[in-house]
Amino acid sequence: MNKEGIAIFWFRRDLRLEDNVGLFFALESKHPVIPLFVFDEEILDSLPKNDSRVGFIYDSLSKINQKLEEIGSSLLIKKGKTSEVWYALIQEYDVKEVFFNKDYEPYAIRRDLAICELLEANKTVHFSFKDQVIFEEKEISKADGLPYTIYTPYKNKWLEKYNSFCPVQEYDASKYFSNFYKTKFSFPTLKQIGFEENPTKVIPHNLKNIVHYQEIRDFPALDATSYLSPHLRFGTVSIRKLVNWAANKNQVFLSELIWREFFMQILFCFPKVVTQNFKPAYDGIQWRNNEDEFKRWCSGTTGYPMVDAGMRQLNETGYMHNRVRMVVSSFLCKHLLINWQWGEAYFAEKLLDFELSSNVGNWQWAAGTGCDAAPYFRVFNPEIQLKKFDEKGIYIRKWIPEFDLEYGKPMVEHTFARNRAIETYKKGILK
Ligand code: FAD
Repeated sequence: MNKEGIAIFWFRRDLRLEDNVGLFFALESKHPVIPLFVFDEEILDSLPKNDSRVGFIYDSLSKINQKLEEIGSSLLIKKGKTSEVWYALIQEYDVKEVFFNKDYEPYAIRRDLAICELLEANKTVHFSFKDQVIFEEKEISKADGLPYTIYTPYKNKWLEKYNSFCPVQEYDASKYFSNFYKTKFSFPTLKQIGFEENPTKVIPHNLKNIVHYQEIRDFPALDATSYLSPHLRFGTVSIRKLVNWAANKNQVFLSELIWREFFMQILFCFPKVVTQNFKPAYDGIQWRNNEDEFKRWCSGTTGYPMVDAGMRQLNETGYMHNRVRMVVSSFLCKHLLINWQWGEAYFAEKLLDFELSSNVGNWQWAAGTGCDAAPYFRVFNPEIQLKKFDEKGIYIRKWIPEFDLEYGKPMVEHTFARNRAIETYKKGILK
């Protein structure tokens, strides 16, 4: 065993050195800090070998490692089952303290509990921190202590609390960077981790349009949203810095960041939403679940240009504009009467910004089964959505080059599908 007492900071979904709460407290402690990232086989084994999210994680870690090398330190990268990796680490080093930022997903909560038990058995002290949200867990609750399940009162309480002590504190650890453990660990190639390069890359985030956000955000051809979602998912951007900035720039944009936290608290308080309807009354809906129709939806060949353009954008880039996500999800659940879980799983596989809480929350919103969801009788008309939000067809022509030549007929007529959906929901919703 290496005799020197050390601390470990465990990076997970907080891939940055700046304003990182757990890292700040690790560096402030008295032991030299080894920065660690574990490629968790229990997550990776189910992913394709060219998964572009793994590529993004890898690139983000390379950037961190480069900065660390400039100050004589480096990242320790491991791959394996987290419990086995940690077991080996505490044999190899005299690990006095472990620091990490909390993750609120059910798998991560189970994993972290197991690691903490292992550390405790080794008499290693561990500390966890709130980092990926402004308000976590049950910090925003109703007067009776129960969680909010409706967005607007949640947002009001969130804003009231934020405004009472804004700006939120940021954690600049750069003054402690000399406390990183000084060594050069070897940095693996992506191939050594078992993955391949994917040309699909995360788009850099862009805040230049945020001043006019509310006027332009719904028009997919304008490319005017922030593209922050994968950066927030993997923590390459700090939510504190972002919210402190956004609060002075645009309240509508801020309210979108609050939706993100709303769905995170829903997932934390009601983890069953991952596999079950938030509203059990909707359990009786008789989904049609036609596999051929699902395939047409996935491949963007439904004959509805707005739906098809969105699905093709997703398949080609790992991203889809929010307005179009609303249209395609409504189409799958209502027009085709396919269980939201099929769509959720497809998005989870394809989205570079896949975030369990937001994905489940928004899919259940579209299906009407979620908390504060779209009412069952609200069925988006994909043609009207196209006229409203892409009148000149710029977005659809970008993703459907053959559009101007003869474009296929819709796979199901709108009024028929709308009536069928409303009837099916009416029959299925338990009184
Ligand atoms: P902007 O409009 O610039 O918004 C800024 C940030 O606010 C986003 O990055 C995101 O963190 C947050 N945000 C915006 N809208 C929402 C919303 N409706 N719910 C929660 N947070 C929001 N977002 C994900 O991050 N991951 C997902 O897996 C995901 N799945 C979705 C599935 C469906 C069916 C729908 C309708 C929406 C989904 N969203 C998801 C929400 C939203 O579409 C994306 O966050 C947004 O399109 C990302 O682009 P942007 O960063 O440019 O957004």
